[in-house]
Amino acid sequence: MNYIPGKNLIAPDSLSRMPIDDSSGSKELEEEIEAYIHKISLQNIYTKDEDIVQIIQAQILDKECQEVKQFVRSKWPTKIKLTSDIKNYYSIRNKLSLVDDLLLRSNRMIIPKNLRPIMLNKLHAGHLGITKTRIRAKRNMWWPGISKDIELKVKSCPACVQNSRNKQEPLVASSLPDYPWQKVTMDLFKLENKWYIIITDCYSRYFEVEELVRMRMRDVIKVCKATFSRHGVPQSIFTDSGTQFQNLDSSEFRRFMKEWSFTIFTSSP
Ligand SMILES: [Zn+2]
Repeated sequence: MNYIPGKNLIAPDSLSRMPIDDSSGSKELEEEIEAYIHKISLQNIYTKDEDIVQIIQAQILDKECQEVKQFVRSKWPTKIKLTSDIKNYYSIRNKLSLVDDLLLRSNRMIIPKNLRPIMLNKLHAGHLGITKTRIRAKRNMWWPGISKDIELKVKSCPACVQNSRNKQEPLVASSLPDYPWQKVTMDLFKLENKWYIIITDCYSRYFEVEELVRMRMRDVIKVCKATFSRHGVPQSIFTDSGTQFQNLDSSEFRRFMKEWSFTIFTSSP
């Protein structure tokens, strides 16, 4: 568990409904929140801790979320009695749950209205196009109309439109893997003068994108280690040798490959 901004925390309302105005007495509460976030993280929600804290806070203050939570806790009325905003939740009511006080749709956090533009920007980071952005959303967040919102966002983004025009066939591992993170693909792309690395699990198609602060082999290795520590070390990594990965021949990367026991395959240029 990394950073908890103790001073600005509002606890889930099962703990307290009041914002914490200073650090006195908040230590215990911080520990509770930490345990709570850990619990959420364990449910495979791929979101940063500070985002989860922000979402918890926003849900507490959001009228729509409050109302839905109330129905999840007790009982749903008939659909006709609901306001139009809440009707959006009716058809998925069986998938809604509360973990402590965080409202979820299966393992996706419900994003209150005021956070949706911010979260949409986060989902859109990396300009991955409609499908991959939706996949990313599916891992951790939901709100009524999210699919359409993603589509509109991507279609109105010049970089996404350009990317989809330039799209090349990705290198695909030939046979279907037996389990998640057995085979992954790894690629680099540059956007607005920043380098990013994308690692995709060939089994689930789940992927992670990380910005490379500097384009050095040790930075690539650092990202790989962090990703593999979270998901498991793959047997094989597939890359497109036409990209910047020519350096994978370096002794630094070969040492990493040996230590972590995986094989790398590059497509012929
Ligand atoms: Zn875009």
